[in-house]
Amino acid sequence: MKYISTRGQSPALSFSQILLGGLAPDGGLYLPESYPQFTDADLTAMRGLSYADLAFAILSRFVDDIPAADLKAIIDKTYRADVYGFTRKGQNAADITPTLKLEDNLYLLSLSNGPTLAFKDMAMQLLGNLFEYVLTKEGKTTNILGATSGDTGSAAEYAMRGKKGIRVFMLSPHKKMSRFQTAQMFSLQDENIYNIAVNGVFDDCQDMVKAVSNDAAFKAQYKIGAVNSINWGRIVAQVVYYFKGYFAVTENNAQKVNFSVPSGNFGNVCAGHIARMMGLPIDKLIVATNENDVLDEFFKTGVYSPRGSAKTYHTSSPSMDISKASNFERFVFDLVGRDSDKTRALWSKVDSGNSFDLNADGYYAKIADYGFVSGSSNHENRLQTIRETQAKYDVVIDTHTADGLKVALEYFDQKTPMLVLETALAAKFEDSIVEALGHAPERPAALNGIEALPQKFTVMDADSAAIKQFIVEKTS
Ligand SMILES: *Cc1c(COP(=O)(O)O)cnc(C)c1O
Repeated sequence: MKYISTRGQSPALSFSQILLGGLAPDGGLYLPESYPQFTDADLTAMRGLSYADLAFAILSRFVDDIPAADLKAIIDKTYRADVYGFTRKGQNAADITPTLKLEDNLYLLSLSNGPTLAFKDMAMQLLGNLFEYVLTKEGKTTNILGATSGDTGSAAEYAMRGKKGIRVFMLSPHKKMSRFQTAQMFSLQDENIYNIAVNGVFDDCQDMVKAVSNDAAFKAQYKIGAVNSINWGRIVAQVVYYFKGYFAVTENNAQKVNFSVPSGNFGNVCAGHIARMMGLPIDKLIVATNENDVLDEFFKTGVYSPRGSAKTYHTSSPSMDISKASNFERFVFDLVGRDSDKTRALWSKVDSGNSFDLNADGYYAKIADYGFVSGSSNHENRLQTIRETQAKYDVVIDTHTADGLKVALEYFDQKTPMLVLETALAAKFEDSIVEALGHAPERPAALNGIEALPQKFTVMDADSAAIKQFIVEKTS
């Protein structure tokens, strides 16, 4: 299996070759040259597999340059009940992504039972083990540099802590994350984890990362790596739980299901698209956005009009506060018939700050063939959904999941099983839950008092020279 760039001007590479990188050299995103296909008989054979065995059945179709036994061992080490153990009452941790039935044909698919209580653990934990394996084998090291406003940074740190050959330098805006998120990250005492609190906002952190990455000589000398949302390893790992969720709520492969996905960078729902392309019987893929509704606008009109960071709203589902969806190019590449010239032309508009319209070429009319529909949610909808879910089902959901459920209900027909992806636990976004319900959400007992643990972090001005100097010191 080779991987090609959506923009068609980079050489095809193997899985291990693209694993540690980000964008393709031509600025595109990597995708497999074709999607592996599962037949009806394959699906029947996969029903009932454990999460780890299912992950191997799927990932082994995408990875052909890691020996099967090694890949199996990496997967078995990743998807363990004790790693994804923050289950709700009645859920079995061994399912890794258990479902929770709200009413007939309406389910949550719990993706946030991992160490940082957000779905990013699903892929990031695998990435940590894959990185360590590939680096060790090649005798290499990497220094991961990232910027976070919360979920990504903590998931990356918990996945990479203590890993051989890997250091993590994670920038976050000083005093701007929730107390819980700050404590999750800053209480890590591992030697290979460096938390850097930047005097500024999230965009300042991201600018520092960009400035370092744009310095090709520094990047090469200090082996700067990334684990951002365009990483193919993260996308492919997320394909697995669509299969797991499908098998959990159906009895045979003639049944179709709908998934509702709280979306920001389009990484999660892109994995659903790939599962569908591989033959998983998905009817609808519902893209749920918050007030930052560029994707909803696209699916409703065929016009993609990214807004730029100055026009990004700060909302109470902050992990979806994105106005340019970095993985969206992967879907559009498929939509335009994998025409890389067309994709390159569309993104030359996006990269120069403009929009594009897919109505004229007839591509927008094809969206229905891919099952995509969409909707958006706002602060009031979110609080209302949290309240109603508590009242009706005695279940407390987080703000992102609330966006997903709100939009799911707009498409729920009572007959087709609907799975709402639960992308974080409420404990992570305590203030909004207090606002909605008047009391704090339950927190997994193991995380009680996390705010009181000693914290390890360095405060720094928003200056790319300062972070470079810091990396030089820590790596010499
Ligand atoms: C990252 C995140 C999202 C958005 O996922 P994308 O893959 O960027 O679309 C939604 N909810 C939560 C809680 C997240 O952390």
